[in-house]
Amino acid sequence: MRRITLLGATGSVGSQTADLLRREGGRQAFRMVAVTGGRNIQGLAALAREFGAEIAVTADPALLGALRSALSGSGIEAAAGPEALAEAASRPADWVLSAIIGAAGLVPGMRALEQGATLALANKESLVAAGPLMMATARQHKAQILPVDSEHSAIFQSLGGEDISRVERLILTASGGALRDWPLERLAGASVAEALAHPNWSMGQRITIDSASMFNKALEVIEAREFFGVAPEQIEVIIHRESIIHSMVGFKDGAVMAHLGCADMRHPIGYALHWPERLPLPVERLDLTKLARLSFEAPDEARFPALRLAREVMAVRGQAGAAFNAAKEIALDWFLAGKIGFMDMAAVVEASLSRLGSDCSLHQEARSLEEVLAMDQLARRRAAESAARLSRAG
Ligand code: NAD
Ligand code: MG
Repeated sequence: MRRITLLGATGSVGSQTADLLRREGGRQAFRMVAVTGGRNIQGLAALAREFGAEIAVTADPALLGALRSALSGSGIEAAAGPEALAEAASRPADWVLSAIIGAAGLVPGMRALEQGATLALANKESLVAAGPLMMATARQHKAQILPVDSEHSAIFQSLGGEDISRVERLILTASGGALRDWPLERLAGASVAEALAHPNWSMGQRITIDSASMFNKALEVIEAREFFGVAPEQIEVIIHRESIIHSMVGFKDGAVMAHLGCADMRHPIGYALHWPERLPLPVERLDLTKLARLSFEAPDEARFPALRLAREVMAVRGQAGAAFNAAKEIALDWFLAGKIGFMDMAAVVEASLSRLGSDCSLHQEARSLEEVLAMDQLARRRAAESAARLSRAG
């Protein structure tokens, strides 16, 4: 029986994965090794019981007691904290979903690669922070990384196994997020609720705000560079408001292959679950006669400074990705807490990168995971300082 681990099982991607596994026979069809989550202890325990997991882990050590009592009588092990998460990820499994949000997914994802599992990777932040290390670890342990991010899954599928040397460009589509039709001068005053009203996709709160600011697309451009190994100038972003084309590959002979479908994360998750097979998935079928039109526009960098910052990060490379992602996470925390404005998020990230660039050698490649984690921590401190300054000024 196939052994499966779900990291971030209680989140948006995690629950949609559980939905697919349930439809395919649940504990009769799969052996669940570990399920992990954050503060939703009841949800985590319910999943662990339903799938008969060996172990359930919460990221929060203060919730260990609650998890133990939620699992009492089940015989399922309970554990808590980042080390327990890493240990759970290192337990032998055939297929590991990495759907933790943020850089917290980096260590567990690396542990899964080190034990040679197939890693279905939704956690783009880990590739942004430590792309070269992750790709090298996968090669070393003959582990396969399969993209779950819809754009990267679309590119992977459009490539159809052709060598990346035949590719001229990758075209990532972006919906433009909740504020795409707002006049530029109103953006600075956008509230959390306004930025959360995503037009096409239903996702976790953090990635939905990142879609409105295009920080999500900025992370995805870097993710594409790391995962597919193309040069930064080969990656284009285009606003496609209908979210029907999930991304495209332009080949050297001028052909462009596109991946189309309804916006449902269970497609890319299910593709990664069954790869290299293709099995039926419970997603709505595209009715082409109902599509009035597909539209495309170039993104305006004044609205979306995150896209320009991603280009700068790719030009520096080294540890700039780790710094960029960490500073972005802190800026997002401050925005969610109502302490800085919507456009201040990019200002915080830019100020943090520029300070880090003058204090330390951002361009030097990280030689170990510890170096990446140290840069992540330093960038969080710098970003909190920048955010505090902006918050006082505002
Ligand atoms: P989410 O917030 O809904 O869920 C995140 C999961 O991680 C939850 O199980 C949560 O409990 C857990 N978690 C939170 N903080 C943690 C920590 N510090 N340590 C360990 N676990 C922690 O997020 P999501 O929207 O499902 O996104 C998950 C990942 O997938 C992200 O990297 C996101 O960018 C990516 N992704 C999501 C979507 C989507 O449709 N939601 C699409 C593409 C990519
Ligand atoms: Mg995406």
